[in-house]
Amino acid sequence: MDSVAEVLGDAVTAEVRGAWTEVYWLFATLLAAEEARLYQVAGHAPAAGFRPWRVTERREEAEDVVSFVLRPADGGKAAPHRPGQYVSVAVDLPGGLRQPRQYTLSRAADGVSMQITVRRVRGRGGAPDGAVSTYLHREVSAGDELLAGTPFGDVVLDDGPDPLVLVSAGIGITPIAAMLDHLAAVQPGRRVIALHADRRPAVHALRVQTAQAAGRMTDLHRVTWYEEPDAPGDGLVMAGCIDLGALTVRIPAKVFGPDLWQQAG
Ligand SMILES: Cc1cc2nc3c(=O)[nH]c(=O)nc-3n(C[C@H](O)[C@H](O)[C@H](O)COP(=O)(O)OP(=O)(O)OC[C@H]3O[C@@H](n4cnc5c(N)ncnc54)[C@H](O)[C@@H]3O)c2cc1C
Repeated sequence: MDSVAEVLGDAVTAEVRGAWTEVYWLFATLLAAEEARLYQVAGHAPAAGFRPWRVTERREEAEDVVSFVLRPADGGKAAPHRPGQYVSVAVDLPGGLRQPRQYTLSRAADGVSMQITVRRVRGRGGAPDGAVSTYLHREVSAGDELLAGTPFGDVVLDDGPDPLVLVSAGIGITPIAAMLDHLAAVQPGRRVIALHADRRPAVHALRVQTAQAAGRMTDLHRVTWYEEPDAPGDGLVMAGCIDLGALTVRIPAKVFGPDLWQQAG
């Protein structure tokens, strides 16, 4: 509230300050209760907190994108995770501030390790560079330790038989890469349409991994759109932004709803 008052000045009267404080705590209490519920549903004790993981591999994926493969530093097992889930990674920044950020697990669970893929966030228009992503890119290499929490998240792949349409852009490919990796291992024959958009092939993260997964799948249709297609990509490549009208594969109407279905033909 002091920061808000510093920016808004006299507009923050005692009455306004009191009302905002009340709303803040109402909202905070609701969120704290929801968090407690989620911990309970996941069977996870909040006190378990962060666990140290050893970086066993650092891989430059694309311009400003790096993957880290992590194994429990105590030699124990990696917690199971479903494709699409993420972990919180906490780093101690110079100055002593501990900052947590969420990173999607970018490949399927193997019981011993987990992989995260981090895009370096560069400050634009005078804004500072992203604190944690820049730290991970600049300071963390194979052999270092990172603190990470338990995998979580409910945007996960359903193992049913239905056809899938997976759509991603930029670093948003991380959950899709994990899903394709998982599908290639357990449902290689499932019908999948994977659509991805990126600026250029050079910034397209996890290209090698997704191409390898694609090679193991028998009914996968992959289309990539590059705003600047300055080099060959993998699979079917188109120029510009995602354009469903340009697709030759049939997308089930129930996936996008009737409007998009009509557009897609
Ligand atoms: C569920 C989930 C999954 C995710 N998965 C991934 C993933 O797989 N890969 C990935 O790379 N990211 C992922 N993210 C994003 C990631 O968690 C971080 O948000 C991202 O790395 C940026 O964190 P940072 O500390 O580098 O940036 P921050 O320091 O948090 O900065 C964020 C932005 O704020 C701007 N900013 C900071 N301070 C100021 C200021 N004073 N004035 C103006 N602007 C400012 C910065 O320039 C930057 O653009 C995921 C996020 C969630 C929630």
